[in-house]
Amino acid sequence: MTDTPDTPEEDPTALWGPATLGIRAAELRGPEMEHSPSIYPTSSFVFRSAAEAARVFAGEQEGNVYGRFTNPTVRAFEQRLARMEGGDACVATASGMAAILSLVLATMKAGDHLLASAGLFGATINLFNNYFVKFGIEVSYAPLADVEAWKQALRPNTKLLFVETPSNPLTEIADVRALADLAHAHGARLAVDNCFLTPVFQKPLALGADYVIHSATKFLDGQGRCLGGAVVGDADKVGKEVFGFMRTAGPCLSPFNAWVFLKGMETLAVRMKAHEDNARRLASWLNEQVGIGRVFYPGLASHPQHELARAQSSGYGAIVSFEVEGGRQGAWKLIDSTRMISITANLGDTRTTITHPATTTHGRISAEARAAAGISEGLVRVAVGLEDLEDLQADLLRGLPQP
Ligand SMILES: *Cc1c(COP(=O)(O)O)cnc(C)c1O
Repeated sequence: MTDTPDTPEEDPTALWGPATLGIRAAELRGPEMEHSPSIYPTSSFVFRSAAEAARVFAGEQEGNVYGRFTNPTVRAFEQRLARMEGGDACVATASGMAAILSLVLATMKAGDHLLASAGLFGATINLFNNYFVKFGIEVSYAPLADVEAWKQALRPNTKLLFVETPSNPLTEIADVRALADLAHAHGARLAVDNCFLTPVFQKPLALGADYVIHSATKFLDGQGRCLGGAVVGDADKVGKEVFGFMRTAGPCLSPFNAWVFLKGMETLAVRMKAHEDNARRLASWLNEQVGIGRVFYPGLASHPQHELARAQSSGYGAIVSFEVEGGRQGAWKLIDSTRMISITANLGDTRTTITHPATTTHGRISAEARAAAGISEGLVRVAVGLEDLEDLQADLLRGLPQP
Protein backbone atom coordinates (compact mmCIF):
# COMPACT_ATOMS: atom_id res chain seq x y z
CA MET A 1 0.00 0.00 0.00
CA THR A 2 1.28 3.43 -0.82
CA ASP A 3 -0.11 6.89 -0.24
CA THR A 4 0.11 7.75 -3.89
CA PRO A 5 -3.33 7.69 -5.45
CA ASP A 6 -3.80 5.48 -8.47
CA THR A 7 -3.72 7.42 -11.68
CA PRO A 8 -5.51 5.16 -14.12
CA GLU A 9 -4.89 5.72 -17.79
CA GLU A 10 -7.68 8.09 -18.78
CA ASP A 11 -9.90 7.25 -21.70
CA PRO A 12 -9.67 10.36 -23.90
CA THR A 13 -13.00 9.48 -25.50
CA ALA A 14 -14.92 9.36 -22.20
CA LEU A 15 -15.78 13.06 -22.33
CA TRP A 16 -16.80 13.20 -25.96
CA GLY A 17 -20.09 14.94 -26.71
CA PRO A 18 -22.84 13.60 -28.94
CA ALA A 19 -21.57 15.24 -32.13
CA THR A 20 -18.08 13.77 -31.70
CA LEU A 21 -19.43 10.35 -30.73
CA GLY A 22 -21.68 10.28 -33.80
CA ILE A 23 -18.62 10.87 -35.98
CA ARG A 24 -15.75 9.21 -34.12
CA ALA A 25 -17.10 6.45 -31.85
CA ALA A 26 -16.39 2.91 -33.13
CA GLU A 27 -14.62 4.08 -36.26
CA LEU A 28 -14.21 1.09 -38.54
CA ARG A 29 -10.82 0.92 -40.19
CA GLY A 30 -9.45 -2.12 -42.03
CA PRO A 31 -5.98 -2.95 -43.40
CA GLU A 32 -6.54 -0.53 -46.31
CA MET A 33 -6.83 2.33 -43.82
CA GLU A 34 -10.02 3.62 -45.40
CA HIS A 35 -11.22 6.89 -43.87
CA SER A 36 -14.93 6.23 -44.36
CA PRO A 37 -16.33 2.93 -42.95
CA SER A 38 -16.54 -0.11 -45.22
CA ILE A 39 -19.48 -2.39 -45.84
CA TYR A 40 -18.73 -6.06 -45.19
CA PRO A 41 -21.17 -7.91 -47.45
CA THR A 42 -20.48 -11.47 -46.34
CA SER A 43 -22.77 -14.03 -44.76
CA SER A 44 -20.03 -16.07 -43.09
CA PHE A 45 -16.42 -15.78 -41.95
CA VAL A 46 -13.48 -18.21 -42.22
CA PHE A 47 -10.96 -19.47 -39.70
CA ARG A 48 -7.23 -19.94 -40.03
CA SER A 49 -7.41 -23.47 -38.62
CA ALA A 50 -9.76 -26.08 -37.21
CA ALA A 51 -8.46 -25.25 -33.75
CA GLU A 52 -9.28 -21.57 -34.19
CA ALA A 53 -12.78 -22.46 -35.40
CA ALA A 54 -13.23 -24.60 -32.30
CA ARG A 55 -12.08 -21.76 -29.99
CA VAL A 56 -14.38 -19.18 -31.62
CA PHE A 57 -17.36 -21.56 -31.57
CA ALA A 58 -16.69 -22.33 -27.91
CA GLY A 59 -16.59 -18.61 -27.11
CA GLU A 60 -12.96 -18.83 -25.94
CA GLN A 61 -11.76 -16.49 -28.63
CA GLU A 62 -13.52 -13.47 -30.12
CA GLY A 63 -14.30 -13.64 -33.78
CA ASN A 64 -16.99 -13.45 -36.42
CA VAL A 65 -18.80 -16.65 -37.28
CA TYR A 66 -21.91 -15.86 -39.25
CA GLY A 67 -23.76 -12.74 -40.36
CA ARG A 68 -26.81 -13.49 -38.28
CA PHE A 69 -24.61 -13.18 -35.16
CA THR A 70 -22.15 -10.41 -35.96
CA ASN A 71 -20.85 -8.36 -38.86
CA PRO A 72 -18.15 -5.65 -38.64
CA THR A 73 -20.27 -2.88 -40.19
CA VAL A 74 -23.27 -3.77 -38.03
CA ARG A 75 -21.05 -3.94 -34.95
CA ALA A 76 -19.68 -0.45 -35.65
CA PHE A 77 -23.25 0.86 -35.78
CA GLU A 78 -24.12 -0.96 -32.54
CA GLN A 79 -21.07 0.32 -30.71
CA ARG A 80 -21.55 3.89 -31.93
CA LEU A 81 -25.21 3.95 -30.85
CA ALA A 82 -24.35 2.33 -27.50
CA ARG A 83 -21.77 5.05 -26.85
CA MET A 84 -24.20 7.80 -27.79
CA GLU A 85 -26.92 6.39 -25.50
CA GLY A 86 -24.46 5.71 -22.68
CA GLY A 87 -25.11 1.94 -22.74
CA ASP A 88 -22.68 -0.99 -22.63
CA ALA A 89 -24.38 -3.05 -25.30
CA CYS A 90 -26.56 -2.62 -28.37
CA VAL A 91 -28.28 -5.16 -30.58
CA ALA A 92 -29.14 -3.93 -34.08
CA THR A 93 -32.28 -5.25 -35.75
CA ALA A 94 -33.95 -5.21 -39.16
CA SER A 95 -36.47 -2.53 -38.13
CA GLY A 96 -37.74 -0.66 -35.11
CA MET A 97 -40.54 -3.21 -34.78
CA ALA A 98 -37.99 -6.05 -34.82
CA ALA A 99 -36.22 -4.32 -31.92
CA ILE A 100 -39.43 -4.27 -29.85
CA LEU A 101 -40.20 -7.87 -30.82
CA SER A 102 -36.70 -9.00 -29.85
CA LEU A 103 -36.80 -7.21 -26.52
CA VAL A 104 -40.14 -8.70 -25.48
CA LEU A 105 -39.53 -12.25 -26.74
CA ALA A 106 -36.09 -12.30 -25.17
CA THR A 107 -37.19 -11.12 -21.75
CA MET A 108 -40.85 -12.07 -21.18
CA LYS A 109 -42.84 -15.27 -20.96
CA ALA A 110 -46.44 -16.45 -20.84
CA GLY A 111 -48.13 -15.14 -17.71
CA ASP A 112 -46.02 -11.96 -17.51
CA HIS A 113 -47.65 -8.54 -17.72
CA LEU A 114 -46.49 -5.73 -20.03
CA LEU A 115 -47.64 -2.25 -19.00
CA ALA A 116 -47.35 0.34 -21.75
CA SER A 117 -48.23 3.96 -22.31
CA ALA A 118 -51.50 4.67 -24.12
CA GLY A 119 -51.11 6.14 -27.59
CA LEU A 120 -48.01 4.25 -28.70
CA PHE A 121 -46.88 3.96 -32.33
CA GLY A 122 -49.68 2.07 -34.15
CA ALA A 123 -47.66 -1.02 -35.12
CA THR A 124 -46.40 -1.31 -31.53
CA ILE A 125 -49.99 -1.41 -30.25
CA ASN A 126 -50.89 -4.04 -32.87
CA LEU A 127 -47.86 -6.14 -31.97
CA PHE A 128 -48.82 -6.01 -28.28
CA ASN A 129 -52.59 -6.53 -28.67
CA ASN A 130 -52.72 -8.96 -31.59
CA TYR A 131 -49.57 -11.05 -31.19
CA PHE A 132 -48.03 -10.97 -27.72
CA VAL A 133 -51.40 -11.75 -26.13
CA LYS A 134 -51.63 -14.88 -28.33
CA PHE A 135 -48.61 -16.19 -26.44
CA GLY A 136 -50.05 -15.49 -23.00
CA ILE A 137 -48.43 -12.13 -22.29
CA GLU A 138 -50.89 -9.80 -20.55
CA VAL A 139 -50.94 -6.25 -21.92
CA SER A 140 -52.52 -3.12 -20.46
CA TYR A 141 -52.06 0.62 -20.82
CA ALA A 142 -51.61 3.65 -18.58
CA PRO A 143 -51.75 7.36 -19.44
CA LEU A 144 -48.21 8.44 -20.27
CA ALA A 145 -47.94 11.48 -18.02
CA ASP A 146 -49.80 10.22 -14.91
CA VAL A 147 -47.31 8.41 -12.64
CA GLU A 148 -50.00 7.65 -10.05
CA ALA A 149 -52.05 5.83 -12.72
CA TRP A 150 -48.99 3.71 -13.58
CA LYS A 151 -48.66 2.77 -9.93
CA GLN A 152 -52.31 1.70 -9.82
CA ALA A 153 -51.93 -0.29 -13.05
CA LEU A 154 -49.03 -2.45 -11.81
CA ARG A 155 -49.88 -6.13 -11.31
CA PRO A 156 -47.92 -8.69 -9.30
CA ASN A 157 -46.69 -10.17 -12.61
CA THR A 158 -45.73 -6.85 -14.26
CA LYS A 159 -42.29 -7.37 -15.78
CA LEU A 160 -41.89 -4.57 -18.31
CA LEU A 161 -42.98 -0.93 -18.54
CA PHE A 162 -42.83 0.46 -22.06
CA VAL A 163 -43.09 4.16 -23.02
CA GLU A 164 -42.60 6.49 -25.92
CA THR A 165 -41.74 10.03 -24.91
CA PRO A 166 -42.58 12.57 -26.28
CA SER A 167 -45.77 10.86 -27.41
CA ASN A 168 -47.11 10.90 -30.93
CA PRO A 169 -48.90 13.08 -32.00
CA LEU A 170 -49.68 15.15 -28.88
CA THR A 171 -46.10 15.39 -27.55
CA GLU A 172 -46.95 14.45 -23.96
CA ILE A 173 -43.93 13.75 -21.77
CA ALA A 174 -43.29 10.78 -19.47
CA ASP A 175 -41.37 11.31 -16.24
CA VAL A 176 -38.71 8.73 -17.09
CA ARG A 177 -36.96 8.80 -13.72
CA ALA A 178 -40.23 8.35 -11.80
CA LEU A 179 -41.29 5.44 -14.01
CA ALA A 180 -37.86 3.80 -13.71
CA ASP A 181 -38.06 4.05 -9.90
CA LEU A 182 -41.57 2.63 -9.96
CA ALA A 183 -40.51 -0.28 -12.18
CA HIS A 184 -37.45 -1.12 -10.12
CA ALA A 185 -39.29 -0.98 -6.78
CA HIS A 186 -41.62 -3.57 -8.31
CA GLY A 187 -38.88 -5.81 -9.71
CA ALA A 188 -39.79 -4.80 -13.26
CA ARG A 189 -37.82 -3.05 -16.01
CA LEU A 190 -38.43 0.10 -18.06
CA ALA A 191 -38.01 0.41 -21.83
CA VAL A 192 -38.09 3.83 -23.53
CA ASP A 193 -38.62 4.23 -27.27
CA ASN A 194 -36.21 7.14 -27.93
CA CYS A 195 -37.00 7.53 -31.60
CA PHE A 196 -38.32 11.12 -31.41
CA LEU A 197 -35.49 12.78 -29.49
CA THR A 198 -32.51 10.48 -30.16
CA PRO A 199 -29.51 10.47 -27.78
CA VAL A 200 -28.64 13.95 -29.01
CA PHE A 201 -31.52 15.29 -26.87
CA GLN A 202 -32.46 12.54 -24.41
CA LYS A 203 -30.59 9.70 -22.70
CA PRO A 204 -33.15 7.45 -21.00
CA LEU A 205 -30.50 5.08 -19.56
CA ALA A 206 -29.00 7.96 -17.56
CA LEU A 207 -32.51 8.67 -16.22
CA GLY A 208 -32.79 5.08 -14.96
CA ALA A 209 -34.36 3.21 -17.90
CA ASP A 210 -33.13 -0.35 -18.53
CA TYR A 211 -33.61 -0.38 -22.29
CA VAL A 212 -33.64 2.14 -25.11
CA ILE A 213 -35.49 1.21 -28.28
CA HIS A 214 -34.74 2.81 -31.63
CA SER A 215 -36.28 2.85 -35.03
CA ALA A 216 -33.10 3.77 -36.90
CA THR A 217 -35.40 4.27 -39.88
CA LYS A 218 -36.17 7.75 -38.56
CA PHE A 219 -33.60 10.33 -37.45
CA LEU A 220 -30.57 7.99 -37.29
CA ASP A 221 -30.86 7.51 -41.03
CA GLY A 222 -32.29 10.98 -41.39
CA GLN A 223 -32.96 10.89 -45.10
CA GLY A 224 -35.72 8.28 -45.38
CA ARG A 225 -33.67 5.53 -47.06
CA CYS A 226 -33.33 2.36 -44.94
CA LEU A 227 -35.17 0.41 -42.26
CA GLY A 228 -33.44 -0.62 -39.08
CA GLY A 229 -33.70 -0.65 -35.32
CA ALA A 230 -31.82 -1.28 -32.11
CA VAL A 231 -32.09 -2.17 -28.43
CA VAL A 232 -29.52 -0.51 -26.14
CA GLY A 233 -28.80 -1.34 -22.50
CA ASP A 234 -26.30 -3.12 -20.29
CA ALA A 235 -24.02 -6.06 -21.02
CA ASP A 236 -26.32 -8.64 -19.41
CA LYS A 237 -29.84 -7.52 -20.24
CA VAL A 238 -29.01 -6.56 -23.82
CA GLY A 239 -25.54 -7.94 -24.59
CA LYS A 240 -26.60 -11.43 -23.46
CA GLU A 241 -30.40 -11.73 -23.22
CA VAL A 242 -31.50 -9.71 -26.26
CA PHE A 243 -28.46 -10.70 -28.32
CA GLY A 244 -29.15 -14.36 -27.57
CA PHE A 245 -32.64 -14.05 -29.01
CA MET A 246 -31.53 -12.00 -32.01
CA ARG A 247 -28.77 -14.39 -33.11
CA THR A 248 -31.11 -17.35 -32.82
CA ALA A 249 -34.31 -15.89 -34.28
CA GLY A 250 -32.54 -13.79 -36.90
CA PRO A 251 -34.20 -10.35 -37.23
CA CYS A 252 -30.73 -8.91 -37.86
CA LEU A 253 -29.70 -5.66 -39.54
CA SER A 254 -28.11 -5.80 -42.98
CA PRO A 255 -24.54 -4.45 -43.29
CA PHE A 256 -25.62 -2.06 -46.03
CA ASN A 257 -28.30 -0.50 -43.81
CA ALA A 258 -25.83 -0.32 -40.90
CA TRP A 259 -23.46 1.59 -43.17
CA VAL A 260 -26.19 4.07 -44.15
CA PHE A 261 -26.95 4.62 -40.44
CA LEU A 262 -23.25 5.09 -39.64
CA LYS A 263 -23.16 7.87 -42.22
CA GLY A 264 -26.42 9.29 -40.85
CA MET A 265 -25.08 9.38 -37.30
CA GLU A 266 -22.14 11.49 -38.42
CA THR A 267 -24.59 14.35 -38.97
CA LEU A 268 -27.17 13.43 -36.31
CA ALA A 269 -26.23 16.18 -33.83
CA VAL A 270 -26.25 19.00 -36.40
CA ARG A 271 -29.41 17.69 -38.00
CA MET A 272 -31.32 17.34 -34.71
CA LYS A 273 -30.43 20.90 -33.77
CA ALA A 274 -31.52 22.17 -37.18
CA HIS A 275 -34.76 20.11 -37.06
CA GLU A 276 -35.50 21.50 -33.65
CA ASP A 277 -34.70 25.07 -34.55
CA ASN A 278 -37.19 24.85 -37.42
CA ALA A 279 -39.78 23.08 -35.23
CA ARG A 280 -39.54 25.57 -32.37
CA ARG A 281 -39.90 28.55 -34.67
CA LEU A 282 -42.71 26.91 -36.64
CA ALA A 283 -44.61 26.09 -33.42
CA SER A 284 -44.39 29.70 -32.19
CA TRP A 285 -45.47 30.97 -35.58
CA LEU A 286 -48.42 28.56 -35.75
CA ASN A 287 -49.51 29.78 -32.33
CA GLU A 288 -50.11 33.21 -33.86
CA GLN A 289 -51.93 32.20 -37.03
CA VAL A 290 -55.61 32.82 -37.66
CA GLY A 291 -57.53 29.55 -38.03
CA ILE A 292 -55.22 27.55 -35.74
CA GLY A 293 -56.29 26.41 -32.27
CA ARG A 294 -54.01 24.67 -29.80
CA VAL A 295 -50.42 23.97 -30.76
CA PHE A 296 -48.70 20.95 -29.16
CA TYR A 297 -44.92 21.25 -28.84
CA PRO A 298 -42.93 20.62 -25.63
CA GLY A 299 -40.66 23.58 -26.38
CA LEU A 300 -43.54 26.05 -26.00
CA ALA A 301 -43.78 27.58 -22.51
CA SER A 302 -47.54 26.90 -22.73
CA HIS A 303 -46.98 23.09 -22.99
CA PRO A 304 -48.27 21.60 -19.71
CA GLN A 305 -45.04 19.63 -19.21
CA HIS A 306 -42.58 22.14 -20.58
CA GLU A 307 -40.59 22.15 -17.32
CA LEU A 308 -40.32 18.35 -17.15
CA ALA A 309 -39.25 18.24 -20.80
CA ARG A 310 -36.63 20.86 -20.08
CA ALA A 311 -35.34 18.99 -17.04
CA GLN A 312 -34.93 15.54 -18.61
CA SER A 313 -33.95 16.36 -22.19
CA SER A 314 -31.72 18.92 -23.84
CA GLY A 315 -34.05 19.54 -26.77
CA TYR A 316 -37.70 19.19 -27.74
CA GLY A 317 -37.55 17.47 -31.10
CA ALA A 318 -39.18 17.99 -34.47
CA ILE A 319 -42.80 16.90 -34.03
CA VAL A 320 -45.36 19.70 -33.92
CA SER A 321 -49.13 19.08 -33.83
CA PHE A 322 -51.90 21.64 -34.00
CA GLU A 323 -55.67 21.95 -34.20
CA VAL A 324 -57.14 23.51 -37.30
CA GLU A 325 -60.51 25.26 -37.04
CA GLY A 326 -63.31 23.53 -38.93
CA GLY A 327 -62.56 19.98 -37.78
CA ARG A 328 -61.74 17.35 -40.38
CA GLN A 329 -62.69 19.63 -43.26
CA GLY A 330 -60.36 22.39 -42.10
CA ALA A 331 -57.52 19.94 -41.45
CA TRP A 332 -57.87 18.20 -44.83
CA LYS A 333 -58.05 21.56 -46.60
CA LEU A 334 -54.81 22.69 -45.00
CA ILE A 335 -53.11 19.38 -45.86
CA ASP A 336 -54.39 19.35 -49.45
CA SER A 337 -53.37 22.98 -50.01
CA THR A 338 -49.69 22.28 -49.40
CA ARG A 339 -47.52 21.95 -52.51
CA MET A 340 -44.13 21.15 -51.01
CA ILE A 341 -44.66 19.34 -47.70
CA SER A 342 -45.08 15.56 -48.20
CA ILE A 343 -48.39 13.96 -47.22
CA THR A 344 -47.03 10.88 -45.46
CA ALA A 345 -46.86 9.52 -41.95
CA ASN A 346 -43.10 8.97 -41.96
CA LEU A 347 -40.87 11.19 -39.86
CA GLY A 348 -37.22 11.84 -39.17
CA ASP A 349 -36.50 12.87 -42.73
CA THR A 350 -34.93 16.01 -44.21
CA ARG A 351 -38.32 16.48 -45.91
CA THR A 352 -41.15 17.87 -43.81
CA THR A 353 -44.18 15.58 -43.66
CA ILE A 354 -47.81 16.26 -42.77
CA THR A 355 -50.56 13.88 -41.59
CA HIS A 356 -54.11 13.83 -40.29
CA PRO A 357 -53.78 11.41 -37.34
CA ALA A 358 -57.54 10.84 -36.86
CA THR A 359 -57.89 9.26 -40.32
CA THR A 360 -54.42 7.71 -40.79
CA THR A 361 -52.09 6.66 -37.96
CA HIS A 362 -54.93 6.65 -35.43
CA GLY A 363 -57.75 5.83 -37.87
CA ARG A 364 -58.23 2.25 -36.76
CA ILE A 365 -59.01 2.98 -33.14
CA SER A 366 -62.60 3.81 -32.17
CA ALA A 367 -63.82 7.41 -32.27
CA GLU A 368 -64.33 7.30 -28.48
CA ALA A 369 -60.82 6.03 -27.82
CA ARG A 370 -59.47 8.69 -30.14
CA ALA A 371 -61.40 11.43 -28.36
CA ALA A 372 -60.22 10.08 -24.99
CA ALA A 373 -56.65 10.25 -26.26
CA GLY A 374 -57.20 13.89 -27.25
CA ILE A 375 -56.85 13.32 -30.98
CA SER A 376 -59.49 15.58 -32.49
CA GLU A 377 -60.76 15.66 -36.07
CA GLY A 378 -59.03 19.01 -36.61
CA LEU A 379 -55.62 17.79 -35.44
CA VAL A 380 -52.71 17.93 -37.90
CA ARG A 381 -49.22 16.58 -37.24
CA VAL A 382 -46.12 17.99 -38.89
CA ALA A 383 -42.75 16.25 -38.63
CA VAL A 384 -40.53 19.21 -39.33
CA GLY A 385 -37.69 18.69 -41.79
CA LEU A 386 -34.76 20.81 -42.82
CA GLU A 387 -36.21 23.07 -45.51
CA ASP A 388 -36.12 26.84 -45.02
CA LEU A 389 -38.63 27.90 -42.38
CA GLU A 390 -40.09 30.61 -44.62
CA ASP A 391 -40.94 28.02 -47.28
CA LEU A 392 -42.67 25.79 -44.72
CA GLN A 393 -44.68 28.74 -43.46
CA ALA A 394 -45.69 29.76 -46.98
CA ASP A 395 -46.78 26.18 -47.76
CA LEU A 396 -48.94 25.93 -44.62
CA LEU A 397 -50.43 29.40 -45.14
CA ARG A 398 -52.03 28.32 -48.45
CA GLY A 399 -54.71 26.38 -46.59
CA LEU A 400 -55.36 28.90 -43.80
CA PRO A 401 -57.91 31.72 -43.87
CA GLN A 402 -56.11 34.96 -44.74
CA PRO A 403 -56.51 37.67 -42.10
C1 LIG B 1 -41.38 4.16 -36.79
C2 LIG B 1 -41.48 3.89 -35.35
C3 LIG B 1 -41.33 2.59 -34.84
C4 LIG B 1 -41.16 1.38 -35.74
O1 LIG B 1 -39.99 1.42 -36.47
P1 LIG B 1 -39.83 0.70 -37.92
O2 LIG B 1 -38.41 0.96 -38.23
O3 LIG B 1 -40.81 1.36 -38.83
O4 LIG B 1 -40.13 -0.74 -37.72
C5 LIG B 1 -41.38 2.41 -33.48
N1 LIG B 1 -41.57 3.45 -32.64
C6 LIG B 1 -41.71 4.72 -33.11
C7 LIG B 1 -41.91 5.82 -32.12
C8 LIG B 1 -41.68 4.98 -34.46
O5 LIG B 1 -41.84 6.23 -34.90
